[in-house]
Amino acid sequence: MKHIDEHRINSLLNTLNTKVTNIELNTILNKTKDLQRLSIEETAKLLLVKEHQNLQKIYAAASYVKNTIYGKRIVMFVPLYISNHCSNSCLYCGFAANNKRTIRKKLTFEEIKQQTEILLKKGHKRILVVAAEMTSSKENLDYYVGAVKSIYSANYNGNKIKRVNINVAPMDIESFKILKTSGIGTYQIFQETYHEETYRKLHIAGAKTDPNNRLDAIDNAFKAGIDDVGIGPLLGLYDPYFEILAMMMHIEYLEKNYGIGPHTISVPRIEPAPGSTYASNPEYKISDEEFKKIVAVLRLSVPYTGIIISTRETAQLRDELVNLGVSQISAESKVTPGGYDINFSHNDNLERQFSLNDQRTLDEIIKSLLAQGYVPSFCAACYRKNRTGENFMNLAKPGQIKNMCDINALVTLKEYLEDFASPEVKEIGYNLIEKSRARLDNASLKILDKFFKDIDDGIRDSYI
Ligand code: SAM
Repeated sequence: MKHIDEHRINSLLNTLNTKVTNIELNTILNKTKDLQRLSIEETAKLLLVKEHQNLQKIYAAASYVKNTIYGKRIVMFVPLYISNHCSNSCLYCGFAANNKRTIRKKLTFEEIKQQTEILLKKGHKRILVVAAEMTSSKENLDYYVGAVKSIYSANYNGNKIKRVNINVAPMDIESFKILKTSGIGTYQIFQETYHEETYRKLHIAGAKTDPNNRLDAIDNAFKAGIDDVGIGPLLGLYDPYFEILAMMMHIEYLEKNYGIGPHTISVPRIEPAPGSTYASNPEYKISDEEFKKIVAVLRLSVPYTGIIISTRETAQLRDELVNLGVSQISAESKVTPGGYDINFSHNDNLERQFSLNDQRTLDEIIKSLLAQGYVPSFCAACYRKNRTGENFMNLAKPGQIKNMCDINALVTLKEYLEDFASPEVKEIGYNLIEKSRARLDNASLKILDKFFKDIDDGIRDSYI
């Protein structure tokens, strides 16, 4: 597979298969205190740590790095599945073309708008569009562009979606340029596995059979001027340590060639999927403890990158993971096209992509974040203020983005509390706002109070 030197990764994993000394561990963790990016070798060493005490040190460092860069905010988003018509056959996926039991749905633009309005009504402001891959590239592109426009056109009591990210099939540069004009934020695509033999074994039909085509998608997006990209492995398909080190290699390649790495990293774990025996018994299923270590090590290895955890994970584990460096989480997700409308006919068992474990409502998730002292954020200011790509990285790397995140997150939280929260969440939220104010300097407080007054006066969507 392009950019991935399997031989180097394997020899690293073999030669490093010894205990990491305390001196080595402390040297690496000291480096992370300065928010410095780790090398592939250093990442491998952290992955090999097993002792409870040393794992606790890694967790504490990950939490420190996350809070130093982004502050206490956790960005909230919701996926919107628009179509499960697929021309690929991936052995782990409920949408696989060879899964003849799946009922296929491709939402109309009007239905996409209706789904969006349901989400707006709950308080969502950031959407991740997800679609399976149809055969015709032109049909894919026209559909994605129309879908993004429909989402932005949706309106509930003056509330609109602020940012649409998209997780869809690879495209050529010209198509990405057209997609960019529809106003997308991040283009996200998961490599699934960076291990070539495994990749070819699991992707048996359709355009997705070519692993390099998938890697090229990220290059094409950058070349088309989309500078926020999201990547990730689907954990469970191959040795997780191999996947993380290979992804680090991919990141090094991107940094070398485009000056920046990914805006976000996702760490989806494989879940049971309708019609897939493989998904119920993945070859490399990883435990929650291993998973926590992987998330924390990623936070330390690429400190400036957003880390996303989806509702594939249980509520309890997600509550723990936000302390280990996660910066974005989804809420109230459905992975069935049309799934947000209880009146929209669907059979979840036959139409969903995979199973989900965190079934809490947005309000319940927000309550739990607030209880842990985190500020749920619906902010999209960076993207609207052109703080994307290199501009974003230049602020994130020295930990300066936090100054804006602190204010914007509190403003979006107050808007949520006023417009959507249950009375209980409203009370907890205002208590946290009061506590959070104490952390701000006078200049920030002045801006915050101006924006808070806007909200009291009925004005929404102020940001810096
Ligand atoms: N067509 C797009 C593409 O090829 O990238 C979208 C893919 S799919 C709708 C989104 C992601 O779901 C996949 O990239 C994969 O990582 C993940 N996924 C698929 N099956 C899964 C399963 N059984 N459990 C968890 N995640 C799964």
